[in-house]
Amino acid sequence: MAQTHPKGLYLLFSTEMAERFSYYGMRALFTLYMINALRLSVEDAAGIYGIYTALVYVTPLIGGLIADRYWGTRRSILCGGLVMALGHFLLFLSASSLSDVETAKALMFCGLAALVVGNGFFKPNISTMVGSLYPPEDSRKDAAFTIFYMGVNVGATLAPLLCGWLGNIDYRWGYLCACLAMLAGTAVMRLLQRRLLVSPQGEQIGLPPTAPTKSHAARHKLDATDLRHMLVIFVIAFFVIFFWAAYEQAGVSLMVFAERNIDRTFLGWTMPAEWTQSLPAIFVVVLAPVFAALWETLAAHHVEPSAPVKQAIGLLFLAQGYYVISVGVDGVTASDKISILWLVLLYLLHVCGELCLAPIGLSLVSRLAPVGLASVMMGFWYMSTAVSNALAGMLSSLYPHDGEVKYFLGFEIASLSDFFLIFVFMSGIAGIVMLLVSPRIVKMMK
Ligand code: GLN
Repeated sequence: MAQTHPKGLYLLFSTEMAERFSYYGMRALFTLYMINALRLSVEDAAGIYGIYTALVYVTPLIGGLIADRYWGTRRSILCGGLVMALGHFLLFLSASSLSDVETAKALMFCGLAALVVGNGFFKPNISTMVGSLYPPEDSRKDAAFTIFYMGVNVGATLAPLLCGWLGNIDYRWGYLCACLAMLAGTAVMRLLQRRLLVSPQGEQIGLPPTAPTKSHAARHKLDATDLRHMLVIFVIAFFVIFFWAAYEQAGVSLMVFAERNIDRTFLGWTMPAEWTQSLPAIFVVVLAPVFAALWETLAAHHVEPSAPVKQAIGLLFLAQGYYVISVGVDGVTASDKISILWLVLLYLLHVCGELCLAPIGLSLVSRLAPVGLASVMMGFWYMSTAVSNALAGMLSSLYPHDGEVKYFLGFEIASLSDFFLIFVFMSGIAGIVMLLVSPRIVKMMK
């Protein structure tokens, strides 16, 4: 029978859903806004996009540190939410000032800075709070983070559709919609946190460490076990870099691929290429309950794989997804189109991998982070995504253009098939190595 979860989980689910709605809604509009409204070149727009998506995952380290040392997670999340709402509002002002492009650009950069800072306070701390709702070794944690991750993706599914639709009318309404969603999420959190965000013993969680909470009392010097656990987080975060660098091709090379080489015409109607980006998020929403139930059932029968094994399987799923598409594009030239089912199958496999890796990683960090360092370790965890996003951009530049041959580590990249094979090898090798070292990692987790 499905286990029950604390009500606080559903508050965090909704708040994160609103925040990710605003984040992905803005992201869906942003590239085309820079190119079409601000008249930036594609290269400049891609550069700004790459720096922005990397920086939003750098600041969680600082936001985590400040939460652990001074503010606690609650205040950090509320401040982060308000600063992010301000960021979206500045983008709304930018899109309302297009008669003076220089002012619009300046407002845009101020908005991006606010989003980078706000996300730093919000993202690691809300993830840490999910873990604090449960006792440290609670077997429901993987399932809880999987449910939470579903919230991320409900937001990510709806955002491109709603903000994209409003943005097509006028960019500023898309940004305003993102701003309002963020404000609504922050307000709901503020109203319900006292009632719902409590530990299993009924204590308020997420207060500043100076308040007389358990975590403050237990702040202590790091011992050998703490250091070993931190090392496990670093090692796993390293493997995870290869996952997101391959997975995040979704927003870059796979987007170009969807536009040029996927047949998107159905009964005379052509689907916008951007819509293919909702596919993985939809799959996460549909499959997250299946995976949550699977982990619970396997745990109940004492046959649940360890976290590193699940994550290695995640990397291998990703490799399979790219292998499928590399077969699908074999012999396909720049002007050929293949069935969208190839892309659907790729994203299905990618999402199975994502569900084995991403929520499990959050759960693992929450279990292993030493007391008093939960948020900073979560920030470190997200830092690997910053590296991945930068790497994803670099690797996507190997995308083959007509007749041009590129080289990667001495291998010739002359066709789409060659290009996708890079990711088969990258995630496949990372997955196999992780599987091989997993017994050692599991020992270190004890
Ligand atoms: N889709 C996830 C999110 O937006 C990705 C986070 C990550 O760690 N890369 O939360």
